[in-house]
Amino acid sequence: MTDRYCVIGNPIAHSKSPRIHGQYAAELGEDIQYEQCLAPLDGFAATVARLVSEGYKGANVTVPFKLEAARLATRLTARAQAAGAVNTLVFDGDGIVGDNTDGVGLVADIVRNAGVSLTDKRVLLLGAGGAARGALLPLLDAGPRQIVIANRTLATAEALVAEFADHAARLAVSGFADVEGPFDVIINATSASLDAAVPPVPASVFGPDTLALDMMYGNKPTVFMDFAAGHGAAVRDGLGMLVEQAAEAFALWRGKRPGTAHVLASMRQSQ
Ligand code: NDP
Repeated sequence: MTDRYCVIGNPIAHSKSPRIHGQYAAELGEDIQYEQCLAPLDGFAATVARLVSEGYKGANVTVPFKLEAARLATRLTARAQAAGAVNTLVFDGDGIVGDNTDGVGLVADIVRNAGVSLTDKRVLLLGAGGAARGALLPLLDAGPRQIVIANRTLATAEALVAEFADHAARLAVSGFADVEGPFDVIINATSASLDAAVPPVPASVFGPDTLALDMMYGNKPTVFMDFAAGHGAAVRDGLGMLVEQAAEAFALWRGKRPGTAHVLASMRQSQ
């Protein structure tokens, strides 16, 4: 029998996940079906219950349900617990496992796809919302010297750092305007690009070898990418992160890790 999976969100029509997982399944000869699933804004739990009862094996979760998914899961992986958010559910017949593959996807894109090591590097993380939370533990695991978290609302960044007390020596908090650069890697995990806005950091955050990554992606560079490129940084959007988080979810469900390079190239071509 074909195993079924889906991505749950609202809205969901724009999701690239069915195409990505379809390519992974074809590459690895896995007999799966992967669909989009629109859940009513007040109907996430009922949607998950229906999927479980219909025999689905798992689901991805996207906006706006990642926090609710963390509450609904009966078990959380360590990285999902650290993130407080879930983007991957596994229905294993014994409950609902919640995982978060966004952060490892981000790190894989920086290290493997962009070829930039994070070991002993200075990293600036802009934002302290769900995406930044999901990124923090995998970023720390990659061995940077320091991560400075800058956020519009300082108290949110301070609360996030307080949750990572074991790593306090490598974490710092700052307002956007006060950030002291330069940084080796800058990650824009704010949603400012959605409003064509750039977090107002000084140009001195950019050095000659800075990689600047915006988690957002679209058919043209974001305003943040333009700003960073204008100051000499190498830039990336969030498409690689999306493709890598999907590969991690696929590996979790199927026990086989797909290659990502050709999928990323084909997604990029059709952007
Ligand atoms: P949240 O709503 O949880 O957090 C939003 C963050 O952005 C907060 O830190 C908020 O600051 C900040 N922010 C919002 N507007 C502005 C602004 N105009 N100027 C400066 N800061 C601002 O969103 P998420 O964390 O879930 O998502 C953030 C981004 O990451 C989105 O663009 C999303 O598309 C992207 N993303 C990409 C993924 C991928 O696979 N590529 C995966 C997940 C997310 P404050 O605390 O002050 O409100």
